[in-house]
Amino acid sequence: MSTLASPATTTGATAAADSAPAEADPAPAAADSAPDDSGFRDAVRDHADDLIALRRQVHRRPEIGLHLPQTQAAVLAALDGLPLEVTTGRSLSSVVAVLRGGLPGPVVLLRGDMDALPVTELTGLDYASEVDGVMHACGHDLHVAMLVGAARLLSGVRDRLPGSVIFMFQPGEEGPGGAEPMIAEGLLTAAGEHPVAAYCIHVLSAIEPFGRFSTRRGPMLAAADTLKVTVRGAGGHGSAPQFAKDPIPAACEMVTALQTFVTRSIDIFDPAVVTVGSFHAGTAENVIPAQAEFAATLRSFSPATRERVRRGVLDVVHGIAAAHGLTADADYVPGYPVTVNDGGEAEFAASTAAELFGADRFAWMANPEAGAEDMSYVLERVPGAFVNLGACPPGLDPMTAPLNHAAQARYDDAVVPDGAVLLAELAWRRLSR
Ligand SMILES: [Zn+2]
Ligand SMILES: [Zn+2]
Repeated sequence: MSTLASPATTTGATAAADSAPAEADPAPAAADSAPDDSGFRDAVRDHADDLIALRRQVHRRPEIGLHLPQTQAAVLAALDGLPLEVTTGRSLSSVVAVLRGGLPGPVVLLRGDMDALPVTELTGLDYASEVDGVMHACGHDLHVAMLVGAARLLSGVRDRLPGSVIFMFQPGEEGPGGAEPMIAEGLLTAAGEHPVAAYCIHVLSAIEPFGRFSTRRGPMLAAADTLKVTVRGAGGHGSAPQFAKDPIPAACEMVTALQTFVTRSIDIFDPAVVTVGSFHAGTAENVIPAQAEFAATLRSFSPATRERVRRGVLDVVHGIAAAHGLTADADYVPGYPVTVNDGGEAEFAASTAAELFGADRFAWMANPEAGAEDMSYVLERVPGAFVNLGACPPGLDPMTAPLNHAAQARYDDAVVPDGAVLLAELAWRRLSR
């Protein structure tokens, strides 16, 4: 696909199932909603087949981590011919494309992550992964196609676009993190000025019904940190503990005290989760080992609680070790910070989705998700909104369908055109404000 004709302007009632063929479309007309009608819902029809084909191409060849050469090549090919300034990452295979509108205005950033997971696909789809042990189990292949779609739609209105758009194609979301190195390589200054807003969409294979957008104001996803502990004592004979320094009871106390710490020190309305997911010590029932090890994941939803958890878990571990005459190495490993939506930008994303696709295609989320995302690093620097999009195949019950990351997780790519439209429309309206 190369350059675009200017899309037709929508005039009134938009045809019903225009962009999502598998959907029983409840969306009303989208006219009169935009400051100056973008026409994206009509224009995307010309790209829908191509975007879904791109999604399936990427799905067949999933790649993990920071280096995704085939995915990067697919993105570059899909953007070829568009009026974009394209740069690729130095330390990772990212793609940053800048669209400079024909009219002066601010900068908006749109993000799509591109990486897969070390999962052996069990969906049975005819375009299933062709790479052993690697799968697009989190749906980032749909994100690639949606962001390419947004770039095509916005390129089609370039002359009328008041400002610039940065398209952020990011590797490494599932680890070790691609957003931070992209920021270090100049992502946020790619269009000159710092962006005024940033948006992304994440698909869900379950929980949300097909085609429904959702988000929330404030915390959207958790911070995810890790605690690694080695309790050091002195080994000995199991029959004579008084001559040893047994690390096992102390480590067990730490595990239970960590739970007490959460219930007694953390505000239930600004919660945290501390889960000890691994615990290892000893070799035989009559040998006191010299050390015990455990590791925990720490989830929190605000910077304040995150810091309270960090200090609290270290105090618990060192305090209990000291009480028993032992020492402990406690390693707090920070992960992704809390993903926080700007309240105003979340409202804007919600109203835009509802106006474009109908009120029943949007729902506010009651609670944040306890997963974590490195879009958080962008949203720490740029006000914006992280929006979910249900992609559970019709026919499956969203409440029992396999979740994101499952080997059986399936995403209906009929949502891709709508995702592209929402991303493009968010940029269009935000720049037109
Ligand atoms: Zn994921
Ligand atoms: Zn993901």
